[in-house]
Amino acid sequence: MITVITGGTGSIKLVRGLDSVLDEKMTIITNVGDNIWLFGLYICPDIDTTLYGLSGQLDQKRGWGIYNDTFNWMTSVNKFSDNAWFQIGDKDLDTHRLRTKLFKDGMKLSEITKLMSNRMNIKHHIIPASNHAIETTITTNDRQMHLQEFWVKNKGNLPIKDVTYKGIEIAEPADNITNVIKNSDKIIIAPGNPISSIGPTIAITKLKKSLKESNARKIALSPIIRNKPISGPAGKMMRAKGYSVSNIGVAKFYSDFIDELIIDSSDIKYMDKITKMGIKVHQTQILMKNSLNEIELAKYILSDN
Ligand code: GDP
Repeated sequence: MITVITGGTGSIKLVRGLDSVLDEKMTIITNVGDNIWLFGLYICPDIDTTLYGLSGQLDQKRGWGIYNDTFNWMTSVNKFSDNAWFQIGDKDLDTHRLRTKLFKDGMKLSEITKLMSNRMNIKHHIIPASNHAIETTITTNDRQMHLQEFWVKNKGNLPIKDVTYKGIEIAEPADNITNVIKNSDKIIIAPGNPISSIGPTIAITKLKKSLKESNARKIALSPIIRNKPISGPAGKMMRAKGYSVSNIGVAKFYSDFIDELIIDSSDIKYMDKITKMGIKVHQTQILMKNSLNEIELAKYILSDN
């Protein structure tokens, strides 16, 4: 049984690769820290990237939303709302509308995600990390703000003093996640921003405990090549949390539960240092520029090397 812990734009590339090569169903545990209420809608960006990515609807260039979408609704929103900095496509809108309706009707986020996944004919189990609200919050110089306000509204152009997960103390893993983790043969930490995409999931106390207790092979795929993230604000966030922006930093961040780390061949110089941390290191090409790269990396992770 394969379980993948995922974030957004980086993770979906590997998940797509795994989907192409796996006959069996995998369980995908998605980040909920970037969920946000805007325009009266419950928006779950990383869940949607996973749903759209696995149903062939994702705008792969942007890494979010539906391809060939239009943004006419946003033009109307601009007239009435100050929150028009967050873009929602016209086709994408109905996902948020339906989720919000079902949520207000009393369904849990995991139930809604299952329903949507079934409607999109996705064969895998997609489970949000928690049905409790967890909010990734950035502390800048003068105040705290939602991750989306930091990254989308302010384009990440603010200093980061701290990153915290609001609500994490009372958050429980959704559904049967802890059992799935305990019964998995392989647990893959997909490439995602360690602090804001994978961090909120593994900070859930019971989920982390089950990761530590599981006898599965726990393998992380690094999101960092040559001391830089491939995209997004991971570098700035890692620095703010006291981790070096390197594979040493990634290894340290995951060191209390992973067995193995896959790094890029160009970062081979870090191998000894990471091995000394008790983590087995693999090196290969970890940049996924196209579907062939996604499939090759998925095969590499699934092999028993
Ligand atoms: P955000 O963009 O920082 O909010 O984080 P996401 O979790 O949505 O995804 C971006 C993360 O995935 C970044 O940390 C990237 O470095 C990483 N990433 C993106 N593309 C790739 C890729 O092709 N290979 C690997 N190994 N990591 C990637």
